[in-house]
Amino acid sequence: MKSDSNFFKDNRILQFYAHDISNSDGRMSLFPGNFELEGIQSETVSMFLSGEETDFISESADLLRGYEQVKTAFLQFGLEDPRFQMRKADYLTRIPVVSISVRAKDLNLNSPLWNEDSQWYCVCVHMDETAEKYDHVCIFEIPGVGEQSSEVPCEIRQASEQDERKLNALFSPYVEEAHLISPGKNKEAVWAVGPDTAIDAVQVMYVGAALCTCLTAGDSVPLGYFDMGRESLYSKYVLINRSPAYGQFLCQKEENIVGMVKHEAEVQGNPTVIISHWHEDHVKILYEMALAYSQDGHYRNFWENAVFFFPQCIQKKGWATVHATAILGAIQNAGNQNYTVIPYQNSDEYRLERQYQNLSIFSCHRNDQSVSAPNPHDHGLYAIVTLTSGKRVLLPGDCSYDTMSAQNSGDSVLKEYDYLVATHHGGKYTHTTANHKTAYIPTPRQGTACDAIFSANGVAYGHPNATVVSQYGKTWNCLRTDQLPGNYDMYILG
Ligand SMILES: [Zn+2]
Repeated sequence: MKSDSNFFKDNRILQFYAHDISNSDGRMSLFPGNFELEGIQSETVSMFLSGEETDFISESADLLRGYEQVKTAFLQFGLEDPRFQMRKADYLTRIPVVSISVRAKDLNLNSPLWNEDSQWYCVCVHMDETAEKYDHVCIFEIPGVGEQSSEVPCEIRQASEQDERKLNALFSPYVEEAHLISPGKNKEAVWAVGPDTAIDAVQVMYVGAALCTCLTAGDSVPLGYFDMGRESLYSKYVLINRSPAYGQFLCQKEENIVGMVKHEAEVQGNPTVIISHWHEDHVKILYEMALAYSQDGHYRNFWENAVFFFPQCIQKKGWATVHATAILGAIQNAGNQNYTVIPYQNSDEYRLERQYQNLSIFSCHRNDQSVSAPNPHDHGLYAIVTLTSGKRVLLPGDCSYDTMSAQNSGDSVLKEYDYLVATHHGGKYTHTTANHKTAYIPTPRQGTACDAIFSANGVAYGHPNATVVSQYGKTWNCLRTDQLPGNYDMYILG
């Protein structure tokens, strides 16, 4: 891809196809009218939509090489044929996923544009026009270009039904059947964290309004990760605009930590990676490593040897399917067979998926027929870690506590922890609005001072929410990753 810093100046009009990954609570509350999208430049996939062979001009020989092979499979078999699906990763993992944040100036949530069923949009950005005559503005970031736009005017419309269907087929994350582990099937992946691996600490790193935690042994040797996310483009943008100096300080801290995570994951080679759900703020580091691998062969050791555990990514609004396609494609291209995908369940239940001496992994599920807008938070993974100190850590990801437990409060899965990494960055933690909802907050071990950690920075999404923190505060000692003193960049739970 182009890497000169004049990229934006050379391109007066840019067009993207973009998939909606904003979640409905966020969209309605603090900054109404904000939509977060994962996009690709339209020219990179236009052939798959039109069905006609087109010449795609790229400066990257690597990108072009992948394209030619995938183009041949597409023309021979068609978009939905398994033989095309098996081969598409070669090209799709090389296309940069563009982060786009759209702000509607005059939001009408009843407009068909924001219909819960529409997943894909066409975003047309006018680089050198003034915003006045447009209803929307956006900021976007093209990875590898090393530059992000400031607010630019854009037009946005729903993709046609036909295009939506094709884009869904193109960006349906390809998973080999054997790796989609249904309950009852007794297939074990090889685990870097084995049945009796001792875990000495959990590091909760500052990654902005996002989550990245590392399970370590001995002198901070990484064994695995529970989520590998970092702040979204939009969140970073709001942070820096609100308080430039402090924002830059936090962004630099985040940049350093992300660099360290990528480096250590590569050096370690075979860490276990558990992803709670398919949202950018939980997978973006992993995605960046996938792109760097697919484009330039970086992090080879990691992609060939790491062990992955994901919830299934489905084709619905809110699920980061474009990111998932790139990540699963990198695993496929690396020939790595050590990945396990927990199937999406459309039922109200939670399941123990793996039980080791010091690590338990659960999945939660919700019946989407009973809700207006299905949310990946309700189909996520969560984990319980027992440290060598004997202390217990609950890592809920963004799962709601009521989906993690039986449908009444007081479930034992939510009891007796020494550390809690608060769900959803200190946002909504249960679906009920009843008075007793605080009863769903997990309970600390009795008679000790226990820490609840909030991984957020209070900026773009208002997490952690002050009321929520005070509710945790009745039983927990509350700590925020953005309030670590000075240059400290993580909490070490030991
Ligand atoms: Zn999150």
